[in-house]
Amino acid sequence: MAVLKANIREIVAEHGFAAPVHVTRPTMPPLADYFDLLAEVWPTGSISNGGALHQRLEERLGEYLGAGHVSLFGNGTSALIAALQSLDVAGGEVITTPFTFAATAHAIHFSGATPVFADVGVDSVNVDPDRIEACIGPKTKAILPVHLYGMPCDTGGIQAVADRHGLPVVYDAAHAFGVRVGGRSILLEGDLSVISFHATKPFSTVEGGAVVSRTSAAHDVMESLKNFGLSDGGEIVAPGVNGKMNELEAAFGLLQLDSIDEEIDLRRSLAMMYRSELEDVPGIACLPEPSGVDWNGAYFPVFVDADRFGMTRDELQGILERCNVFARSYFYPTCNRFPCYAQEPSANPGGLVNAERWSARVLCLPMYGMLEYGAVSAIAGIIRWLQTNG
Ligand SMILES: *Cc1c(COP(=O)(O)O)cnc(C)c1O
Repeated sequence: MAVLKANIREIVAEHGFAAPVHVTRPTMPPLADYFDLLAEVWPTGSISNGGALHQRLEERLGEYLGAGHVSLFGNGTSALIAALQSLDVAGGEVITTPFTFAATAHAIHFSGATPVFADVGVDSVNVDPDRIEACIGPKTKAILPVHLYGMPCDTGGIQAVADRHGLPVVYDAAHAFGVRVGGRSILLEGDLSVISFHATKPFSTVEGGAVVSRTSAAHDVMESLKNFGLSDGGEIVAPGVNGKMNELEAAFGLLQLDSIDEEIDLRRSLAMMYRSELEDVPGIACLPEPSGVDWNGAYFPVFVDADRFGMTRDELQGILERCNVFARSYFYPTCNRFPCYAQEPSANPGGLVNAERWSARVLCLPMYGMLEYGAVSAIAGIIRWLQTNG
């Protein structure tokens, strides 16, 4: 390691935080407001199976997101599984990116299909349309790209590939809540989009998620698949999951919706601050704010070039940790490295060099609305100091 042990003690003593700074934390709604909503629910005894608050949140989300047909789920993973199930992918292959959270690949597995990994771009953390096309074969049933860190995929390029081969596209939009391109919701791209409302995402219902469908017919299928495959008439028509969001979660979401614009604005200004403080640090690369996009500040990844920075991503992460800053290597390793997928032909790291390179370098710095500007500046200061004194 380039930094001397004495230097590390010095930086920890001088710049370490007294209390831990985590990679993210949810902005909690006022507790009194939460009690008020629960007071509506309590006397009814109706706490799941699509109650009044579930209904209200579905409508308000549709308006907020500018995306018509929203089906609420108990989490993003079950929403992804149901979305893939609705496209009859079982027994076939689904093309996706290896540079994502495990849930993307696992959802393909649980829908009865095999994940096929296509590489991301040299300049983009998202899956490359040409690489998707190269992976298409007779067993391909669908394409599952991810808008990683809320950064929009090349949706035009992906749709062109999908159209040439008559394949449906499901976007894993777990990170893309509220993202708009040219003023239009990114959730309107492809056939279906899946959002996550987990506590670590910018908009949260504690645990939760949703499928955004293009048509009311597709929405009806999602409603059935999240409820054991029950039809409106009460008959089982498909092997569905239990994917329902409950009223306590919907209440939390309704209150989060009141502050989501402020949350996103705060995150974007914190990201601007990180960028301006880290921009010219040799060996540290940030993703630029995408142009023409209302980005949501879902994460703040930096990419560490060990040769130029003077230490590896893991070494930097370790020193930050000693300073009480808990940055995370989202997403390392890539999904093709997991033992459950590593034997797939498409999992060969030799064919996924871009994803492997991004993943080996990535470190997500703390990012949440309530993070103080002073903390961002101090974290950036530690990183700059290590580069200069390392
Ligand atoms: C969080 C996440 C999911 C899963 O969402 P849950 O609500 O936690 O089940 C899926 N894909 C990606 C890329 C995620 O980050």
